[in-house]
Amino acid sequence: MYKVHGFGANSKTDAIHALEFERRDVGPTDVKIDIMYCGVCHSDIHMARSEWGPSIYPIVPGHEIVGRVTEVGAAVTKFKVGDLAEVGVFVDSCRKCNCCKSGLEQYCDEGMVPSYNGYYRDGITPTFGGYSSDYVIDEQYTLHIPFEQNLEGVAPLLCAGITTYSPLKYAGVTKGHQVAVLGLGGLGHMAVKFAAAFGAEVTMLSTSPSKEADAKRLGAHHFVLTTDKNQLKKLKMQFDFILDTVAAVHDMNQYLDLLKIDGKMLLVGIPPEDNRFNAASIISKRRSIVGSMIGGIKETQEMLDFCAANNIYSDVEVIPMQYINTAYDRIIKSDVKYRFVIDMKTLNQ
Ligand code: NAP
Ligand code: ZN
Ligand code: ZN
Repeated sequence: MYKVHGFGANSKTDAIHALEFERRDVGPTDVKIDIMYCGVCHSDIHMARSEWGPSIYPIVPGHEIVGRVTEVGAAVTKFKVGDLAEVGVFVDSCRKCNCCKSGLEQYCDEGMVPSYNGYYRDGITPTFGGYSSDYVIDEQYTLHIPFEQNLEGVAPLLCAGITTYSPLKYAGVTKGHQVAVLGLGGLGHMAVKFAAAFGAEVTMLSTSPSKEADAKRLGAHHFVLTTDKNQLKKLKMQFDFILDTVAAVHDMNQYLDLLKIDGKMLLVGIPPEDNRFNAASIISKRRSIVGSMIGGIKETQEMLDFCAANNIYSDVEVIPMQYINTAYDRIIKSDVKYRFVIDMKTLNQ
């Protein structure tokens, strides 16, 4: 084990601050990555504050990691020192269940090993995330970066990107579909870009009037303020799919009513408490609610290649590490444009 500098919290009420922790030494199939950028996901806040149940402390959040390989184990074949590499939301899984064998490691029967707030497969060594100087990870769970530039805009693709790409792909979103995206934050802004790139007509459903121009610049064809009930009424039974990215508890009924017959609510936001919906909102039009969690390694690499081919990046605000608590406050107020990304050069300032 060796000592690593990072930023994290010691309890659910603690602010994020500098701390030290230990990572494993580089093993035969591991790569060590010097972290350049790490995105800030709303999940970081949920977990730093134990909003999804008790977290493991100390916690070092961060699962949108871009960096450069500085060391490789003796058996590593896919990476060499100097390569750019990425780490996403998980860093291992059982590798033998049907999910793992079919590239759906995130749904592993034995549970994926999250990049932070979890334990490695030995069940006792905690994982620590990307608000830190470097990461040691098995090469099988490491992504290649097909980009040369704008690496700060690439980091959020590892969570916000794949989490929205995967359900839109699985749903078969294409030209001719009416797609709505609920919530214009980190996930929402990537969802707009992907749905538009797949050829759908995209409507942004937002609580923030100030985001209209940005939504259209990102690729939305229409913008609707969800606090205006008259505007929502006009959208009844309009959409084939709604991608719900909202991080706070909300009443789903008013959105379910906007789906056509057989319409699907693609749910990715994970509020701390249960959302509410009425059975009739689903039954009356044979609608369904479909959950989706990030994406497997193969699909994540496919998404990165798709982004490189289509010039898709995340729109980011690059921040120093020391700004993290202010960034959390702003995310909670929906004041995010549209992902905070930490410049890890600032870690020791
Ligand atoms: P974010 O940047 O905070 O964006 C969420 C957006 O939702 C806000 O910007 C806001 O957009 C809207 N919103 C906030 N409160 C609302 C409310 N009470 N009612 C309606 N809309 C509201 O968060 P994020 O990083 O995109 O993450 C979103 C959620 O997805 C989080 O719960 C996160 O944990 C979860 N997540 C899930 C997965 C997965 O695999 N399924 C992966 C990553 C993250 P407007 O201003 O436009 O209304
Ligand atoms: Zn995330
Ligand atoms: Zn498995």
